[in-house]
Amino acid sequence: MNSIVDFSSIHFTPKPASMTKPPKAAYRSRKLWVLEKLKEHFASDPALKARFDAVTTFSRQIRVSEYHLTNACNIRCEGCWFYEFGHDKETREEKDISTLSNFLDTEVKTRKINSALVIGGEPAMFLERLSLYQAKMRFLTVSSNGLKPIPLKGFENLAIGLSLFGGGPLDDQLRAIKPSGKRFEGLFDKALDNYKDDTRAVFIYAITEDGIDYIEDTVEKIHRNGNQVSFNFYSKYGTREPSAVKHRAALTTEALRVKALYQDTVISPPYFIKTMISGQSHWDSFGYKNCPSISVDHPAHQDRLRNGMPSLPLFNTWSADLKTIKFCCTSGHCLGCRDSQAVSSWLLVSMSQFLETPHQLQTWVEIAESYWSQFIWSPFFKHKSSSDSTNIH
Ligand code: SF4
Ligand code: SF4
Repeated sequence: MNSIVDFSSIHFTPKPASMTKPPKAAYRSRKLWVLEKLKEHFASDPALKARFDAVTTFSRQIRVSEYHLTNACNIRCEGCWFYEFGHDKETREEKDISTLSNFLDTEVKTRKINSALVIGGEPAMFLERLSLYQAKMRFLTVSSNGLKPIPLKGFENLAIGLSLFGGGPLDDQLRAIKPSGKRFEGLFDKALDNYKDDTRAVFIYAITEDGIDYIEDTVEKIHRNGNQVSFNFYSKYGTREPSAVKHRAALTTEALRVKALYQDTVISPPYFIKTMISGQSHWDSFGYKNCPSISVDHPAHQDRLRNGMPSLPLFNTWSADLKTIKFCCTSGHCLGCRDSQAVSSWLLVSMSQFLETPHQLQTWVEIAESYWSQFIWSPFFKHKSSSDSTNIH
């Protein structure tokens, strides 16, 4: 870790009473049970064992952290947690390129990080900084709003997650707003133009009950454009219950129907879609007590890290000043959080919950393969072009 480290104070941590350390004996017997169950399921399905081995071998190589490349953005989305909760005001971004270079060297050589998730603000506004991440990190992923294209040259192996809110006309309503407050039109179309047939790009589509009718058309556009899409959940930050959904069943049904129509274009598997919308898996509800995407070096998490629930090893989120460790991968406001990366990570680190039946284990392997398939640098990435088929007849 850097010698001078600050800690973000932008967070709200509910502390459930159950955050006590589990006894060692219980932990050991649970581990033995996991090994026995894996052996049992693999005995009847060697093909599943091969898939399990491949996906776990790859995921064990990844040591990820998250980095805010800048506090600046060229738009102001409604429902952006970064500006809604004042993350841009908390620190001053580091602009000196040699300081960034030294910081990344420490991350790679001392903390052994090999995979960076770069967010902002809008990272595409500062390509010199982004190319330094590209040079230093073995696996690089960036989150962008798509307005300013990231060139191919020098970024051939960059996985790009393009944000999209609501779909259809809702996207412009929620996102096509300049920092001055002036509205404009066609943000999604601009992102489609910028990334036509660009296999680096995956749209991270925050679906909402207000836009159920737009899901199919929006996915169809992405399909025709030669990109893929992963579903996220649109949280209404600034309201008392950001994840409240009156029409949860209708939203889930439509997302699953569109997934079935566009199997290859929609990366998110059905189990993930249901869990993300409801916040509920078959064994628990998602929340701070089990969220793995917390910064492990942030002192606020000492109790959480002792409660026996898995977390992402070595994961930290760094503020754009390169000195402040942020609370977690997203807003730090856990109430109703459905961040798709955090929910995906929760499912990925919870393999032991998918061992009651061979079918459950198969579901977990599918979740893991789908997750890794969204990154161009992953061996699970499937090249996709607009000529690929759908299940539409
Ligand atoms: S593009 Fe991202 S950082 Fe910029 S306002 Fe929208 S959600 Fe926030
Ligand atoms: S990702 Fe969400 S649930 Fe996890 S710590 Fe951050 S705000 Fe809380």
